[in-house]
Amino acid sequence: MEELYHWIDGKEARGGSGHFVDVFNPATGEVQAKLPLASADETAAAIEGAAKAQREWGATNPQRRARVLMEFVRLLNRDMDALAEALSREHGKTLTDAKGDVQRGLEVIEFCIGAPHLLKGEYTDGAGPGIDMYSMRQPLGVVAGITPFNFPAMVPLWKIGPALACGNAMILKPSERDPSVPLMLARLLQEAGLPDGVLQVVNGDKVAVDAILDSEIVQAVGFVGSTPIAQYIYERAAQTGKRAQCFGGAKNHMIIMPDADLDQAADALVGAGYGAAGERCMAVSVAVPVGDETADALIERLIPRIEKLKIAPYTAGDDVDFGPVITAAAKENILRLVNRGVEQGAELVVDNREFSLQGYENGFFVGPHLFDRVTPDMDIYKTEIFGPVLSTVRAKDYEEALGLAMSHEYGNGTAIFTRSGDAARDFASRVNIGMVGINVPIPVPLAYHTFGGWKRSGFGDLNQHGPDAFRFYTRTKTVTARWPSGIREGSALNFKPMD
Ligand code: NAD
Repeated sequence: MEELYHWIDGKEARGGSGHFVDVFNPATGEVQAKLPLASADETAAAIEGAAKAQREWGATNPQRRARVLMEFVRLLNRDMDALAEALSREHGKTLTDAKGDVQRGLEVIEFCIGAPHLLKGEYTDGAGPGIDMYSMRQPLGVVAGITPFNFPAMVPLWKIGPALACGNAMILKPSERDPSVPLMLARLLQEAGLPDGVLQVVNGDKVAVDAILDSEIVQAVGFVGSTPIAQYIYERAAQTGKRAQCFGGAKNHMIIMPDADLDQAADALVGAGYGAAGERCMAVSVAVPVGDETADALIERLIPRIEKLKIAPYTAGDDVDFGPVITAAAKENILRLVNRGVEQGAELVVDNREFSLQGYENGFFVGPHLFDRVTPDMDIYKTEIFGPVLSTVRAKDYEEALGLAMSHEYGNGTAIFTRSGDAARDFASRVNIGMVGINVPIPVPLAYHTFGGWKRSGFGDLNQHGPDAFRFYTRTKTVTARWPSGIREGSALNFKPMD
């Protein structure tokens, strides 16, 4: 049995706590590795190592730091196939999807190569007589990234890129479900020229996370995962005065107006609802057709498309649509919620509760499900299912559809499908959700924009990647400098505007 490790001070470090967790191959249900869980002391030692390494890295000029990232991009492309294979083996997503996972992370690293420009700061020449004023962006020191299982390359890269480009050292605590790709990323960064200790990968659970949160050395925490943990981390990080941005769960609604191209909408719903087995924070999990006629026509188009989906392990060829979910517990929870939906009166129009994949009976496969006539009081509507289950809530008009998306507790992403510019504009302007698609089902912003949800999908006040990331990972210092030709006045005791 392979024993995984932490990545500390540029080397593999065997776990010393005596605690391990199993890492599964979700397609077969077999344990493929044992992962050590760091103790509080091991985590503290990693943080101290990072603090030492950060001093020199923070003092390295931004262009040199960016060159490390430039080389890192080359290495990510070189090793794309190996990264995708390792990712699929532990996560279960298809190889194409796994490459997309690496690619969307890589694009943030590419954006971070422009760090020297983003770190230039601001300057006012002649803010007063003989006075200049300038603001600098300085690194925070040691920062931490705590990441989820569903994007084991992309989300760590979203954290690592801007944090390192800004001159910080990072403690990355990846998901214990699929830790191999984050470890591979750390190794590649070393090959790209990153000094040892600047990125420490500490594997672990709540013990390691709490040690990070309580550390006086760690200055900021970037978290992505479920909402209860996001809120916990946000609150606990605040107790030691850390900066925190914590992104949580989602229930993304897609509104289908009567004038929409329904074939296009159905294709979009199938891709966004069932891709990656629904384990995306930007997955569409609620379809909201406006009017019964639209709803009937949409369901009629969805059913044959869903029935055609190929569910199989990533090794089964390029035409696999989605693979297993992450754990046996996740599978059980999804099926429990599907049963709950039936009990509460929703109409299960595609029912795959008995789905089993021949030859992979022990794998964590869940077939696709489609519900119609779901209502907002049902558990399947209120809860993030995080599986291949799409719920249809029929709305009588646009205002009701908008109201549904707006009153849900989550506010990560949403979409509207329509041919009306007026409806699309109104929707984009009024909806209280962070990322909006117009005839685009999964509106994940590109690296140079920012990514973040509203309401209980995000705690903290800056988004991930894009210019916000450079604000999050730096502290602003503003200097007011006066170089008078001669001191002419006595002391000025009043707080006064510049002359
Ligand atoms: P999770 O909350 O279980 O775990 C996320 C991280 O928190 C992991 O590193 C885990 O080890 C750690 N953790 C878990 N329990 C903890 C505890 N009690 N104390 C401290 N740390 C703990 O989430 P997950 O199952 O890995 O990921 C799926 C969730 O992530 C979904 O809710 C999904 O919507 C969300 N997600 C959100 C975004 C976003 O940008 N909003 C992106 C991806 C995933």
